[in-house]
Amino acid sequence: MLGRQASLANQAREASVANDPSAAEYHAKNLETAMSCPLCRAKLPCNEKETFEASLNNAKKGKAYAQHAVATKYEAGRGTRKNLNKAAKYFRAAAEQGHPWSMSSYGNLLEKGLGVGKDIGEAKKWYERSAELKQPQGYYHQGNLYENGIGVQKDEAKAARLYRVAADMGFDIAQCSLGCCYDFGTGLPENPEQALGTNATAMGNVSSTMLKIAAIRYGRCDVAGKSPVPKAVYWGKRAAKLGNEEAAAAVKQIDDLLSGVCANCNKPASSVNLKRCTKCRVFRYCGRDCQREHWKAGHKLDCCKTD
Ligand SMILES: [Zn+2]
Ligand SMILES: [Zn+2]
Ligand SMILES: [Zn+2]
Repeated sequence: MLGRQASLANQAREASVANDPSAAEYHAKNLETAMSCPLCRAKLPCNEKETFEASLNNAKKGKAYAQHAVATKYEAGRGTRKNLNKAAKYFRAAAEQGHPWSMSSYGNLLEKGLGVGKDIGEAKKWYERSAELKQPQGYYHQGNLYENGIGVQKDEAKAARLYRVAADMGFDIAQCSLGCCYDFGTGLPENPEQALGTNATAMGNVSSTMLKIAAIRYGRCDVAGKSPVPKAVYWGKRAAKLGNEEAAAAVKQIDDLLSGVCANCNKPASSVNLKRCTKCRVFRYCGRDCQREHWKAGHKLDCCKTD
């Protein structure tokens, strides 16, 4: 396992040396084909096509999280044909509703001119807005602009500072980039020891990154009644009680992800006091109406006690 983790970290590092912002895909690679829950190995009930269709349905109703999900599926050709024009359209719709991940993703399509006219100035604006919402990707992508002088005056010291902010937030790709800055003395005094430390941190984060990606991917399964998350939390908590720290961290990550929004209407926790489902204590709702609607839509089928 350790060897495999190290080689994934190396691949991610190579990708970030090549300034390939999709380096995260290397981490996610083995999850693309995963058919079982990364925690309890239960078979996952949602297939890509079904999840895509459910997401599209919610995206058309204007739900930002679903628009983001649909955009990522169009971008990668998951559950549907790859279509960058549609990816850009839905990333933009979600970004305009304040979805921070969509902001940096839409910015990246603008930067590359993929599915939308190339516009570095506009890309930079979306990165900045994403960074204002404390998304590490927003800092990371800005760092990349400054390191390479894309649409801005090249400024390696500024690039290293931006990478550091994202790296300190635990964003492993930025940790790799920062490690490279130390390796090559880009915008920083050369410091091999520090570089080693930074990359070791990135490596240590690979497995938790995978669980996080899994949590995002499966936790946002839009087919109500088929969510594997309550069961995953149940098994994760049991493993944690037996001293499995990785499982404890994964449970916390899943919980952090779900604590941010109403599971039914996607209202953010910052605007309303969310209450947990009293049985699974996993999903949150902005009120009784949303709780009832979600229960009827299918949560009654996937809800289970998690303690
Ligand atoms: Zn599970
Ligand atoms: Zn709600
Ligand atoms: Zn429940």
